[in-house]
Amino acid sequence: MSLRPTLDFLLYHWLDAESLNQRPRFADHSRETFDAVFDTCERIAREKYAPFNRTVDTQEPHFDGEKVILPQATHDAQKAYAESGMLSAAQDYEIGGMQLPYTVEAAANAFFAMASVSIGSGLLTTGNANLLMVHGTDMQKNVFARNEFSGRFSGTMCLSEPQAGSSLSDVTTRAVPDGDGFEADPLGSRYRLKGNKMWISAGEHELTENIIHLVLAKIPGPDGKLIAGTRGISLFIVPKKMVNTRGELTGVRNDVALAGLNHKLGWRGTTNTLLNFGEGKYPVDGQAGAVGYLVGKPHEGLRCMFHMMNEARIGVGTAATMLGIAGYYASLDYAKNRPQGRPVGVGGKDAAQPQIRIIEHADVKRMLLAQKAYCEGALALELYCARLVDEHHTADAQAADDARLLLEVLTPIAKSWPSEWCLEANSLAIQVHGGYGYTRDFLVEQYWRDNRLNMIHEGTHGIQAMDLLGRKVLMEGGRGLQLLAARINATIEKAIQLPEFAVHANALGKALQRVGSATKAAWATGEPGEALANAVPYMQAFGHTVLAWLWLDVALASLSLPQDAPHAGRIGAMRYFYHYELPKIDAWLRVVETRDLTCADLPEEAF
Ligand SMILES: Cc1cc2nc3c(=O)[nH]c(=O)nc-3n(C[C@H](O)[C@H](O)[C@H](O)COP(=O)(O)OP(=O)(O)OC[C@H]3O[C@@H](n4cnc5c(N)ncnc54)[C@H](O)[C@@H]3O)c2cc1C
Repeated sequence: MSLRPTLDFLLYHWLDAESLNQRPRFADHSRETFDAVFDTCERIAREKYAPFNRTVDTQEPHFDGEKVILPQATHDAQKAYAESGMLSAAQDYEIGGMQLPYTVEAAANAFFAMASVSIGSGLLTTGNANLLMVHGTDMQKNVFARNEFSGRFSGTMCLSEPQAGSSLSDVTTRAVPDGDGFEADPLGSRYRLKGNKMWISAGEHELTENIIHLVLAKIPGPDGKLIAGTRGISLFIVPKKMVNTRGELTGVRNDVALAGLNHKLGWRGTTNTLLNFGEGKYPVDGQAGAVGYLVGKPHEGLRCMFHMMNEARIGVGTAATMLGIAGYYASLDYAKNRPQGRPVGVGGKDAAQPQIRIIEHADVKRMLLAQKAYCEGALALELYCARLVDEHHTADAQAADDARLLLEVLTPIAKSWPSEWCLEANSLAIQVHGGYGYTRDFLVEQYWRDNRLNMIHEGTHGIQAMDLLGRKVLMEGGRGLQLLAARINATIEKAIQLPEFAVHANALGKALQRVGSATKAAWATGEPGEALANAVPYMQAFGHTVLAWLWLDVALASLSLPQDAPHAGRIGAMRYFYHYELPKIDAWLRVVETRDLTCADLPEEAF
């Protein structure tokens, strides 16, 4: 099955992505140029990614004592990706970018995530370089970011430490000025870093000439102690190999050493590393300590990092979505071809009758429609959020500000909803395959394993939920929630006019009211311990309400198209969501509204 018709419908018909060409930044673009990007990405994904998805899973990265070895297919895929220009898709023409809207960039990257998520399509490198384009000096942009955009260097994000994952305020990597005149280095104020960074994706490999680590570390205060909390965190560029101001390798290795590779459940095509910074394995100028160049101002490292969080989280949500879609397509194909059993009812037990294909069983159809509703709904969510990124960057001031705030509220959902429900879709894809789904002869088990990561990284499910209920829905006097409610109400007003949709419009209206009242009830005592005890059920209900809204909106858009099979599929998925999914919010919100402390209050010994 091809993703393209679904993508085209959502992008062009539902979201009217073509109208972005009216913005001066995208004026040179047209549907033709967008389609050309999709054609290229679809082809590279088909030729260089999909055939090797199993290869990168079975040939895990390994360390030969000197180098980390990856399959040749990974080298070829990443080379093709870099040559396509996608690493700098959104950047200005002057630096070799394509000046593409983010909506189009995100959609184009979906092809790679579906074909082989873990070969990696350079999102880390792009995110790293994009950050430097905003917060770096001109020299840092030229030496590091531009070489990342060209594919010569690759990038990482080094936030987590063995003892500091969700709680970044507890990082202990230390950065001290590198001698007198440390501020005069043309590459940026020069520091020496010491510490351990855990879980670093793409932290070591031979895919590129150099690896540019962006590292969070603390500069000690005047008393020599690390400043407690996030306030003390600064951001540094730490190249694996030292470079000069022309971006050439100097031949000196920086003091960053691979301490070990993590062996993962899935996503095995990307190395995951424990890195030791500054342990003295590779002394620079005879001295232990990894050389790092400050980005932005001291103590503002997290603020710089957060600049790219929205896009990184849309990237995670899109990866989860595409793994879900890959499993849906695989199980749909399987269900159409697997004969098993006979229809229920009269004659169903007659073994003389031919068997039917499992797609003819109601329960298998239920599992397929659930996958379609989860995954195509999630794709709509990601594209909608990507479009908000473009609004934020290029719309007029008021619309841009609304988009910013809406994104604040929707980003935890964009990251977490697909991570949970497209993973559930992968589980259903295995179920549709029966016993075969539980073997390595079919890809669905790998999709599930690959997808299991997404609820963990880029802020765990629990952390995203606390961000939503503890911060996002409250910020700026709750204006983000009001903006979202206004958009949902606009869809309700349209849908309520149509007899076949009125019942769904009413259900959505009730769900929206309930989310609003649950938000207030959660905070009625003003006690974070009570309000946030059920943050995850709150996020689940919030997410389901958002998805119900998007499905109704998508169904409305579909009405103006021919009433063909894809249209019937969209209406079916929308109905599935209202009949089988939206009612779940009742149970989720009940514990939120009553500030149920069943879990929170249970003493540790009782577990
Ligand atoms: C494959 C992989 C790739 C990764 N890539 C990178 C990378 O490139 N760069 C990078 O910096 N990091 C990376 N990470 C790290 C990832 O972001 C962390 O694993 C994640 O933030 C969770 O931290 P932790 O593993 O220490 O778990 P913990 O923070 O110890 O969390 C364990 C559990 O406790 C819960 N919990 C923790 N604190 C709270 C709280 N205050 N309230 C309620 N619940 C809480 C969490 O939700 C979770 O369920 C990667 C991780 C993996 C597995």
